[in-house]
Amino acid sequence: MSSTKSFAAQSADSPLAPWTIDRRNPKPHDVQIGILYCGVCHSDLHTARNEWGNTVYPCVPGHEIVGKVTAIGDQVTKFKVGDLAGIGCLVDSCRECDNCKEGLEQYCSNGMVGTYNGKEKDGSGNTYGGYSKSINAHEDFVLHVSDQLPLEGVAPLLCAGITTYSPLRHWKVGKGTKVAVLGLGGLGHMGVKLAASMGAEVTMLSHSPSKAADAKRLGAAHFVLTSDAAQVKACAGTFDFILDTVSADHDYNFYLGMLRTNGVMVCVGAPPSPAQIPAFNLIFGRRSVAGSLIGGLPETQEMLDYCAEHQIVSDVEVIAMKDINEAYERMLKGDVRYRFVIDMATL
Ligand code: NAP
Ligand code: ZN
Ligand code: ZN
Repeated sequence: MSSTKSFAAQSADSPLAPWTIDRRNPKPHDVQIGILYCGVCHSDLHTARNEWGNTVYPCVPGHEIVGKVTAIGDQVTKFKVGDLAGIGCLVDSCRECDNCKEGLEQYCSNGMVGTYNGKEKDGSGNTYGGYSKSINAHEDFVLHVSDQLPLEGVAPLLCAGITTYSPLRHWKVGKGTKVAVLGLGGLGHMGVKLAASMGAEVTMLSHSPSKAADAKRLGAAHFVLTSDAAQVKACAGTFDFILDTVSADHDYNFYLGMLRTNGVMVCVGAPPSPAQIPAFNLIFGRRSVAGSLIGGLPETQEMLDYCAEHQIVSDVEVIAMKDINEAYERMLKGDVRYRFVIDMATL
């Protein structure tokens, strides 16, 4: 075991504060990463504050992890010491179920192990995430990271990037697709960049007028202010695909009417309260509401390689570890352009 500095929430209503965790020594297939940057996902905040009701404390959030390999187990073949590497939202799964065999480890029938707030399969306890100096994971759950992109901008790809890339690919978004991205935050800004890079015509749906210019700069062809009735009305029946990234409770029905016949609204945002959707809002126009969870390991690597090829990174504001609680408050106010990333040298 090695003592490792981290920042943890000790309860739902206590701010994150310094805490020391014991990281295991690398197992034969483990890659140990010295963490350089960790992105701040809204899921970190939902979890630290127990908004989904399943948090085990102490909780060390962080699942947008990039760094350098500092040690490897003696059976590791995919990485060597000094390589750049990343870890996203999961660090283990059963590897035997149909989903795992297909590379859809995020949907493991026996339960994937989250990078934080997960239960280690060997019974050793709770997992602790990337708000820490180092982390170990089985090499199969570690990603290769390009040395051609700024690392702080790559970190958010490990969650915000893959969570938006995966549904865009699954629903075959591309040239000729009219896509709306709902919510311009960490996920939303990656959704706009990625959908635009795939050739889609992207509309940004936002409740923040101040984000209009950014939406266009990120690749949106149109910006719709969701509080403006005339702009909303003009969207009726126009989109093939809506990517809903909103973190707060909101009315799904308000947006369903913007779908064309056969249109799909994919929820990736995970507000705490259940949604109410009258069947008629789906029946008319044969509309669907779907969900999508992060991405499996093969697709996450594909996304990282795609981003390296297309020079796509996240727009980030780098913060010191001690400023995490203020960053959470600012994220809640939508005051981030568009992802906070912690510089782990400051821990
Ligand atoms: P974020 O950076 O805080 O962005 C959320 C955006 O939602 C805001 O920028 C804002 O956009 C919009 N929004 C916030 N409050 C709103 C309100 N009251 N009404 C309408 N719009 C509001 O969060 P994030 O990190 O992108 O995460 C978004 C959600 O996705 C979270 O719930 C997170 O847990 C979830 N998530 C899911 C997955 C998955 O696998 N499915 C993975 C990662 C995260 P505008 O200002 O443009 O309106
Ligand atoms: Zn996340
Ligand atoms: Zn499985």
